[in-house]
Amino acid sequence: MTVKIGVSACVVGQRVRFDGGHKLSAFCQHTLAPLVEFVPFCPEMALGMPSPRPAIRLMKTALGDIRLVNNKDDSLDYTDAMLALCAEQLPQMQGLAGYVVCAKSPTCGLERVRLVDDRGVLLGKIATGLFTHELHKTYPWLPIEEDGRLLDPGLRESFITRVYALDAWQRHMADGFSAGKLVQFHSQYKFVVMAHNPTAYRELGRLVANPKLFAETELAKRYLTDFMQALSTVATRKTHANVLMHLQGFFKKVLSSDAKQELLELIHQYRQGHAPLLAPLTLLKHHLRLNPHDYVAAQRYLQPYPAQLGLQA
Ligand code: SF4
Repeated sequence: MTVKIGVSACVVGQRVRFDGGHKLSAFCQHTLAPLVEFVPFCPEMALGMPSPRPAIRLMKTALGDIRLVNNKDDSLDYTDAMLALCAEQLPQMQGLAGYVVCAKSPTCGLERVRLVDDRGVLLGKIATGLFTHELHKTYPWLPIEEDGRLLDPGLRESFITRVYALDAWQRHMADGFSAGKLVQFHSQYKFVVMAHNPTAYRELGRLVANPKLFAETELAKRYLTDFMQALSTVATRKTHANVLMHLQGFFKKVLSSDAKQELLELIHQYRQGHAPLLAPLTLLKHHLRLNPHDYVAAQRYLQPYPAQLGLQA
C-alpha cells in the first residue's frame, strides 16, 4: 500500500485559489507524486466558495479571538463554518502519514500567516491558517510542512523521514498497540532518532523502558507525539557522524584493520563536509551484506525512505 499524504489542492495544481490559479509545487509533482498517494483537499472550496472568490484573512478581534473573515468586509465571517467543516472532515484523515500545505494562506498556512487587528492593521506574520491549526490540534504527531519550505534540503529530509516513520508506525500498530510492539518499533528507529535529536533519543528510551508509567492509550500518544517531534529537528553532519560511529562499532570485530580505517576515514570526510552521507552509508551497507547482523539490518536509519527520493546527500 502506498503512503498517503494530504495536500492543499492548489499545491498539486488544482485551480482552486481565490485568484482562480494554483500553486503547483515542482517537488510534489516530480519527486513525491510517483511514490505517494496524494489526497488533495481545498477547505475553502469545500465550504462552497467559488474560484475565483474574494480574498479572506485572519483577524484578531478586540476580545482576542482569531476570526477568518472577508478581506474587505469583516462582517462576512467564515470561522464557524470552517470549524464545522474541520470537525466533519478531520476524523476522515487519520490514515494520512503527512500533509503538505500552501504557505501564507489564512486557511492552509502553517506559520507566518498575516494577522490583522479589527481595524485592518497588520499585527505581524505570526498566525497559522485555521484549517491547519485544527489539523495540528487533531493530529499533533502528523508531519505538516509548507510547499515552499520543502525546497530546503534539511527541512525536506526531516519531513520525508517523518512521513515514512509515521507510515511505518501505522502499519506496525495496525491491529492494535502494545508495549511489546512499541519496543520493537523503537528498536528499529533508535538511530534515526539519535541522528535528529540526541536528547530526545535518551528521553524516548526512558519512556519505552518504563511502559507501566502510563495507560496504553496515553503511552502510545505520548511516544508518537514525542517521537515525531524529535524527528522534526533537522539532523546535522555532527549527529549523523555520531550515529555512523555507533554503527561502525558493530563491525569492529569482523573488519580487517584496513577496512576499519577506510570506513573511519569516510565518516571523518563526511563529518568535515568532504563526502555525502551516502558514501559512508553505502560502505556500511556493503559490510553488512558481507557480515550479516540482524540488529543492524533492522535499523531504519540505513534506509528511512525510498532510495528513489535521493535525499541522503
Ligand atoms: S491554500 Fe488551501 S484554501 Fe487556499 S486554495 Fe489552496 S487548498 Fe484552497
